[in-house]
Amino acid sequence: MRLQDKKALVTGASRGIGKAIAGRFIAEGAEVWGIGTKEPEGLAERISEAKGKLHWICADLGDLAQVEELVENLIKDTGGFDVLVNNAGITRDNLSFRMNLSDFQKVLDVNLSSPFIIARTVGRAMIRQRRGSIINMASVVGIHGNGGQANYAAAKAGVIGFTKSLAQESAPRGVRVNAIAPGFIATDMTSAMTEDAKEKTLALIPLKRMGTPDDIAAAALFLASDESAYITGQVITVDGGMFM
Ligand code: NAP
Repeated sequence: MRLQDKKALVTGASRGIGKAIAGRFIAEGAEVWGIGTKEPEGLAERISEAKGKLHWICADLGDLAQVEELVENLIKDTGGFDVLVNNAGITRDNLSFRMNLSDFQKVLDVNLSSPFIIARTVGRAMIRQRRGSIINMASVVGIHGNGGQANYAAAKAGVIGFTKSLAQESAPRGVRVNAIAPGFIATDMTSAMTEDAKEKTLALIPLKRMGTPDDIAAAALFLASDESAYITGQVITVDGGMFM
C-alpha cells in the first residue's frame, strides 16, 4: 500500500490514462478526487468498488475563470492534497498553416493554463503542509514536436517548462514536481488515428506495442509515492523506447 491514507486529485479521471491512475492509486490505499467534464458511464460501480474512496467532480477545466475557485473549494473541503495529477488533455489537430487561433488557444487553455492554475493552487497548500507530489502529464510530442500538432506540442512543451520552474520554487519546501511524457498509448485520444498512421507509429517503437494506460499509471504511482522521494524537476518518458 504505497499511498496509504494519501489524498490525491486526478484530473481527466473518467477514462484512458487518468482512469487507470485513479484506480491504481485507490488500490494502493489513496482516496481520490477525480475530475471530468461529466459523470462517466459506470461511475457508481467505480465508487462502490473503491469502497467510497473515489469522489467525483464535474467541471470544464478549459473554463479558466472558474478553475482556481473550484480547486480552492476542494482544498477547503478535503484539507488539502498529498498528490496532484494534472492529466486532463485534449487535441485539436491540424497543419499549422490551416490551424485557426481558437483551436490553438483551446488546446493551450486545457493542456497548459489550466494545469498551471491547478498546480499553483494545490501547490500553495502543499507548501503549507511541507509535503506533496505534483505530476503533470506532458508528452513526447512536447519534447520532439509533431507535424499536425503545433498547438498540442506547444502546450506540452510549456507543461515541461512550468514543471521544472515550479520544481525549483517548491523543492526547498518539501514539494516535488515532475512530469511524465507518454509516447503512443491506447486510449480514445489515439483511437481517432488512421490505421496507416497507427502502423507507421508502431514501426518506430522498439518494444513493438502501443503503451497501455496501466504503463503510465505505474510511472505516476512511482512519482506519487515516497519511492521517488529524491526525484524532482524530471520528465520521465514512457514510450516503449520510441525516443532514445
Ligand atoms: P482521453 O482518453 O482522451 O481522456 C481525456 C481525459 O481528459 C478525459 O477524462 C476527459 O474527460 C478529460 N478532459 C478533457 N477535457 C477536459 C476539460 N475541459 N475539463 C475536464 N476534463 C477534461 O486521453 P488520454 O489518452 O487518457 O490522455 C490523458 C493525458 O495524457 C492527456 O494530457 C494527454 O495529452 C496525455 N497523453 C496521451 C497520450 C496518448 O497516446 N494517449 C500520449 C501522450 C500524452 P471527459 O471524459 O469528461 O471528456
